[in-house]
Amino acid sequence: MEDRWVGVADRVWVRRCRELDLSLGLVVGDDRCLVIDTGVDTDHGRAFAAAVRELTPLPWQIAYTHDHYDHWFGTAAFGECAVWAVGDASAYVGSGEVQRERMAVQYRREGRERAAERLGRSRLVPPNRTVAEAVELDLGGRTALLRPAGPAHTDNDLAVEVPDAGVLFAGDLFEHGAPPQYDDAFPQHWARSAAHLLRRSPATVVPGHGEPGDHRWALGQARDLAEVARLCGEVAAGRLRPEEAAANGPFDAATMRTALERTATQ
Ligand SMILES: [Zn+2]
Repeated sequence: MEDRWVGVADRVWVRRCRELDLSLGLVVGDDRCLVIDTGVDTDHGRAFAAAVRELTPLPWQIAYTHDHYDHWFGTAAFGECAVWAVGDASAYVGSGEVQRERMAVQYRREGRERAAERLGRSRLVPPNRTVAEAVELDLGGRTALLRPAGPAHTDNDLAVEVPDAGVLFAGDLFEHGAPPQYDDAFPQHWARSAAHLLRRSPATVVPGHGEPGDHRWALGQARDLAEVARLCGEVAAGRLRPEEAAANGPFDAATMRTALERTATQ
């Protein structure tokens, strides 16, 4: 399957990607557009930028939902522009280089030599605009709201709301078709952050991976995240054994064990 566009509202699109089942975003106003995340490497970013140009000739700005490599290593293909994020440039570069090394090893172990090469030659573009509190980005005739959304999936989550379209780009706070990823997560905060993001009842919630979902689906996932937080809290308080929590969680046992480990360090 090739990467493809899915329209979710008036001039709001999701780029559904074969690689990692990623969902990248595009919101177009009258004067400029906002690109949400840029893909796994510069080659992927170049293809994404060309796909954006099929839909709009307007100048772009970029928002990063968080610093995991698959969401921002494609940016060099977009050239000079404003890049919004919660984390600052040095944090992005530091964590980006660590991820680049780790992923190159993993790709080679999987026999994906060319993916490792693409990753190796991707120039990292750290953010140059900081989202410390909610930012109203004027796209011309419509506003995109960039807001800190964590700590949750990471310590630097950002969500994009398009109020006139009822669309929420939630980054990896929500995942469709795969369990949420807790490796860098804050399980207790995550549950609260996810519930908070849904309080304005967006009609469409775009996850970082998987198909866009509706409000009811997102509420279900928020409930599952809350159940993970509850079980982790019970284990931390000594009222439940880790094996029981892992066996009885809403997600698979490996995901639950990662959430438990993260809780124990916090
Ligand atoms: Zn992530």
